[in-house]
Amino acid sequence: MSAQLETTQVFPSFEQVYQGLAGQIGMLRQMAPEPTKSEERRLAGAINTLVEETNADEAVWLESCIHCGQCTTACHFFQATGEAKYAPMRKMDLYRRVYRREVSPLRWLFKLATRPVKLKDFEEAQELIYDSCSECGRCTMVCPMGIDTASLVHHMRSAMVAAELVPPELSALRMEQKNAGTVFGSSPETLKKMIDTIRTHYGVEIPLDLREAEVMVLSSAVDLVANGNGLLATARIMNHIGVDWTICSDGFESANFGLLSGDMSLWRMQADPIVAAAQRIGAKTLVIAECGHAYPALRWNPMLRSGALPFEMMYMSEFLGRQAKAGKLRLRPLEGKVTYHDPCKTGRRGGAFDEPRAVLKALGADFVELPANKEYNWCCGGGAGIFLLEDATRLRDESFKIKIREVNETGAEAVVVSCASCRLNFEAGRQKNHWDKRVDSLVELVADHLIDGPTPISGKKAADAEGAVA
Ligand code: SF4
Ligand code: SF4
Repeated sequence: MSAQLETTQVFPSFEQVYQGLAGQIGMLRQMAPEPTKSEERRLAGAINTLVEETNADEAVWLESCIHCGQCTTACHFFQATGEAKYAPMRKMDLYRRVYRREVSPLRWLFKLATRPVKLKDFEEAQELIYDSCSECGRCTMVCPMGIDTASLVHHMRSAMVAAELVPPELSALRMEQKNAGTVFGSSPETLKKMIDTIRTHYGVEIPLDLREAEVMVLSSAVDLVANGNGLLATARIMNHIGVDWTICSDGFESANFGLLSGDMSLWRMQADPIVAAAQRIGAKTLVIAECGHAYPALRWNPMLRSGALPFEMMYMSEFLGRQAKAGKLRLRPLEGKVTYHDPCKTGRRGGAFDEPRAVLKALGADFVELPANKEYNWCCGGGAGIFLLEDATRLRDESFKIKIREVNETGAEAVVVSCASCRLNFEAGRQKNHWDKRVDSLVELVADHLIDGPTPISGKKAADAEGAVA
């Protein structure tokens, strides 16, 4: 029986995955916590957060905008709506006011000349900081002053956490990850259950909790609670190339709602165990699942500033690209014309451009670039958690029309993505617009085109896995 036939028998199609997750996302608003602190403390917390996080880079960016308007040409939310409030430079206004009154060398003057900042100002900024900025970094590409609006918006998200103004969906998931250590209920037990399902129904082994392994692989909540095909595909590829790999049950979750909400302590709390597990097992490589924001959550985690780690972190598309370049993927040709959507976090902000293209080349794909591609690729509109936000529906839908136009222009039958969040957003847009394009995951595409099928792990390794849970 072919891999594809087996897949459709046990795991749902991605169309169904999206529909199931959309239902769960719809319930998040009711689960969001109410503010617990007084308004005075929330305001003071927000202002103090911005003051503490403002270093030389931030000060220069806040001081140097010349209001040329170039960035408006690059922002999908401004381009899709034409509404002035969504211009990138407007998203810095509140941060700049706080900076001028509290940090600037001329703060004594600004305090005399400007209105005090109120909690209401932060409430009004919530839409600009979450719904209308995917922290994609495209505006920085065209800014003559090199202002990194995405980073400034991220500091504002940090202030929003202190002000208890995180949008309800992100707030609910942040609190779940912080308090229970799960995302959509995904836990070490969910991981073990999924591994059992994959072994039972597909005969594919996943080495869990090996004491030592060269490659440590992360999974993600989406793969564990909804899209089993993602982990199945990863396992098939790892076994196919015969790499010495494992998944650690004390550090497997790619999703990081600390990064997405702006909660720095959760960001670190979620990333620390992953780094510790990789060090414990002596991994040389940490492979991050197809989860775009997980890449910056780990690669640019503040703790990494303290020194180099003894292993390399790679996004899934980077790992696959290296395997493709080394001739380790034996693949049958992919039929039909395809294009590729670079996830903002791994592409423009991470530089992983050549590797996914090397994979498509190894697949023998009839590949065509999007009109704006690589560092100029348009964000799909769902990044930085926006995909989850009900209040951002109009902005997301409007900006996705840019993506539809771009993909249609290529004449491709399918768009390949390598980020679960992009994929969910594309799937939502595809279904809403009755769009006749296929949306494929890079890792699943590779797994579906492996020539000689999966290679089970050796008896010794399987035995090692049995008793090796730390
Ligand atoms: S492009 Fe840069 S300098 Fe020009 S308005 Fe935008 S942020 Fe300001
Ligand atoms: S980072 Fe992206 S979404 Fe945010 S303002 Fe810049 S272009 Fe727009």
